[in-house]
Amino acid sequence: MNNTDDSDRLRAQVRSWLERNVPRDWRQTVTGADQDFFVRQQRDWFSRLVEAGYATPHWPEGWPGGGRSLAEQKVIYEEVARADAPRLILFFVALYHSACTLIEWGTAAQKEKYLPGILKGQVWCQGFSEPNAGSDLAAVRTRAELRGDRYVINGQKTWSTLAQHADRCLLLVRTGKSEPPQGGLTYLLLDMRSKGVSVRPIAQITGDDEFSEIFFDDVEVPVEDRVGEEGQGWAVAQSTLSSERGLTLVELTQRMRYSLARFPTLMRERGRFDDPILRRELGGLIARVDAVCALADRYLLKRISGEEAAGDASLVKLNYARTLREFTLLGLRIGGLESQYREGFTRGGSQETGNWAVDFMNSYNWSIAGGSDEIQRNIIAERLLGMPREPRTWQLPVERS
Ligand SMILES: Cc1cc2nc3c(=O)[nH]c(=O)nc-3n(C[C@H](O)[C@H](O)[C@H](O)COP(=O)(O)OP(=O)(O)OC[C@H]3O[C@@H](n4cnc5c(N)ncnc54)[C@H](O)[C@@H]3O)c2cc1C
Repeated sequence: MNNTDDSDRLRAQVRSWLERNVPRDWRQTVTGADQDFFVRQQRDWFSRLVEAGYATPHWPEGWPGGGRSLAEQKVIYEEVARADAPRLILFFVALYHSACTLIEWGTAAQKEKYLPGILKGQVWCQGFSEPNAGSDLAAVRTRAELRGDRYVINGQKTWSTLAQHADRCLLLVRTGKSEPPQGGLTYLLLDMRSKGVSVRPIAQITGDDEFSEIFFDDVEVPVEDRVGEEGQGWAVAQSTLSSERGLTLVELTQRMRYSLARFPTLMRERGRFDDPILRRELGGLIARVDAVCALADRYLLKRISGEEAAGDASLVKLNYARTLREFTLLGLRIGGLESQYREGFTRGGSQETGNWAVDFMNSYNWSIAGGSDEIQRNIIAERLLGMPREPRTWQLPVERS
């Protein structure tokens, strides 16, 4: 998109489509509802967005809805946030992680087999983390052994978001024996209905069970469902992970900006509109939300102009996570004791739904998922600021006698 007229035209189109199509009562109907209802609602919203061509603006030219410039994508994400439309959480891994990985690494046959299925509503999950391999994915232990034309998998994954609804899984497994830890990893596409797969949802502090453990007992994956070569899994996984940050944060930071309007209303409702301390804190929060929106915008500009540096996306994510914690905490404080009751949660909302107790607990997701705050700080320090790399191993200093 080259000029402001084009941008304004697209914005007007998207806005008018959203005005006609966002289900007005989606928050009320999904709040407190069970997961089956949430899945139906997400499927309905997803198919509408696919039909309009707004679900896949980041896909390349040639695929439905794809071929949009970054500037056009930004307009779409901003308008979706402004309209307070449901977030496509159920399809997030399919649309971003799976699609971006397949587009970069998949064979023609794999793209043909899987990308159309995603557009039809196939749900994917990501099976990377294990009980002892989260920040350090090189420690993955789930094993895959090549027997004839199939890999046979045994082991366990954890924290797989919405795996209980998934049709397919992006799976990182260990195939090598003697290679250095990163070199022995392989990347597979798993059919979640394969024999030997069992899924156990994990109860969370919010009362939800959004993610699951996955267990593998002699599960078979055909060799044609391997992405990249055997032993190349680490490099393929990096593509998957880099699709997670960045653009989606433009939508999320904008959502937080539009949600700021909740605070004055809440202060009035609680008779605390003139409270000077809360006013000062709200002023500070507005400045911080503006700053994080500006960071996300600057990040996008750098991407558009090809100047993105390693670590830029981490800067946005780290600041978003911190601001979201402050945002939800202020909501909790203004809301008082009443806001600390745990109401039914709103699946498919962002983490600033106005259901403060749940929002506050959920805000910590962002400090962990997709790389914890500490890991983002390491990336910023080493790659953006050029500080020395952290030691490869760290041990308690030995006491001198
Ligand atoms: C909401 C949510 C959704 C998720 N969804 C998925 C999913 O769909 N699929 C999936 O595979 N995983 C998923 N995860 C898992 C997530 O990727 C991991 O939790 C995350 O990478 C952290 O790993 P860990 O939990 O093993 O913690 P650890 O790696 O054990 O870290 C524990 C603590 O030590 C710190 N630490 C570790 N190493 C260092 C270091 N080198 N320097 C400084 N500090 C360090 C960490 O920052 C953290 O505070 C999800 C997590 C959350 C919270």
